[in-house]
Amino acid sequence: MASEPKYIRIVGASQHNLQNVTVELPRERLIVLTGLSGSGKSSLAFDTIYAEGQRKYVESLSVHARHFLEQLSKPEVEYIEGLPPTLAIEQRAAAANPRSTVATTTEIHDFLRVLFARVGIPHCPKCGARIHAHTVDQIVDAVLSYPPETRIMLLAPLVRRQAGDLHAVLRRIQREGFVRARVNGELRDVKDLSELPKGRKFDIDVVVDRLVLRPEIRPRLADAIELSFSLSDGVVIVSRAADAARREGRSPLETPANGTTPANGASSAAAVANHGKAPRGAQSNGWLDETFSERYACTRCGITLPELSPRAFSFNSPYGACQTCGGLGTTLRFDEQLVIPNDNLALANAIAPWATAQRDVAASQRAALRQLCAAFDVKPETPFKNLPDDLRRIVLYGTRPADAKRFGIQFEGVIPNLERRTKAAGSDGGRSRFINYQSEHVCESCHGARLRPEPLAVRIGDRNIHQLVQLPIAQATKLFDEMSFTGEAAVIAEPILREVRQRLRFMDAVGLGYLTLDRP
Ligand SMILES: [Zn+2]
Ligand SMILES: [Zn+2]
Repeated sequence: MASEPKYIRIVGASQHNLQNVTVELPRERLIVLTGLSGSGKSSLAFDTIYAEGQRKYVESLSVHARHFLEQLSKPEVEYIEGLPPTLAIEQRAAAANPRSTVATTTEIHDFLRVLFARVGIPHCPKCGARIHAHTVDQIVDAVLSYPPETRIMLLAPLVRRQAGDLHAVLRRIQREGFVRARVNGELRDVKDLSELPKGRKFDIDVVVDRLVLRPEIRPRLADAIELSFSLSDGVVIVSRAADAARREGRSPLETPANGTTPANGASSAAAVANHGKAPRGAQSNGWLDETFSERYACTRCGITLPELSPRAFSFNSPYGACQTCGGLGTTLRFDEQLVIPNDNLALANAIAPWATAQRDVAASQRAALRQLCAAFDVKPETPFKNLPDDLRRIVLYGTRPADAKRFGIQFEGVIPNLERRTKAAGSDGGRSRFINYQSEHVCESCHGARLRPEPLAVRIGDRNIHQLVQLPIAQATKLFDEMSFTGEAAVIAEPILREVRQRLRFMDAVGLGYLTLDRP
């Protein structure tokens, strides 16, 4: 048996910038290649030795197997002797990109986005109430669960708290053949409505149908709901006589916000609206309302949520990213301490961003400062920290109208001036001039959550997607192991959960349980 070669002998390596290198490398030793950037370390290690080893390995395989492997071209080298099978591990450049987090690089974020879009529970971004979208069938079922013989009305809300010329609305109601409408909670004949007083605010709901509950009304009920949807943008109010409501309690789909006590005549819908809310279970002259929406809409706040697709849950997508911070969770703001890094300096020299100004600009800036000093009767050589409080504030933030009156001066302020110039600069290049004077602050709109309010109001359990990725991996692993859904949601969620669990368990098992998923 031939003895194992003691060296890897490389002859005439000319790959990339290698210049006909011939070298012997001892085997079974740790070898370090060092040298200047561009001297050919990688060309020798990866592009010659490793590449040749791979090529030989692939050549040793059957034609069939080779078919599935990437074909490497032969490296520029005369020959290599004593080469064992090769293996390469490359260092991956650690991305210092804030848009890349543990969750995004492991794809967990992608699965979470789908999960939230498909089975998350939307809430109103304004009042926090849970938001339902109802199908016609669901509403029909809810209505048919009222006691038999209940008198009901189906209404399409057309006008909410509107003043001004409502004739167009009234004409439309008449033209479409409706005979009754509810105006500020009161049922009226449409033909009597021609003279609504101007200047008052009105709620107008057109009565689409009136029914007495019996099983055979199902098709007619469905038609009336459809008609109402088409009139009022996907909303229908089902109003039932309150004596029936008292006996029955509440419907399975909605819990009226103000309870189910029967209305007394004094509590009109208008009075309720005056309190700033139109509860789902509003009462009106002995009738009890339930409002249903076919879309994800808060019927209290009148907010309709946009379709929340997976991309709405991505801070890297314009559809999801917070509009204030662009999805970064932080904003840059000019920082007093960076603008005035040394307050022992005289005012004229203390303002760091002005130190580099062009001569003509600097002259006008100094003139402005001299004026300020004159108004306060201080010398321009006074150290910044010894200036009167008002003057320091005015230098940094400019004069308010009251200052102009009191001190007889006007000044834009160093920081407002920088902000204006940053905005005007627009491009990244122009802005980077000012970055030394800015510090990072948590975004005021999203408070660091990086997304728009609508996706942030979608929750699974009691967490939104941002709160979920803030968990350490160990805790998230446990949470997802215990997470379960019922019905259709379970069918949708199961394959997604499997992927998320698998990745979380892996990271937990290799000892990364302490990391949070939102870590860059
Ligand atoms: Zn709301
Ligand atoms: Zn933000």
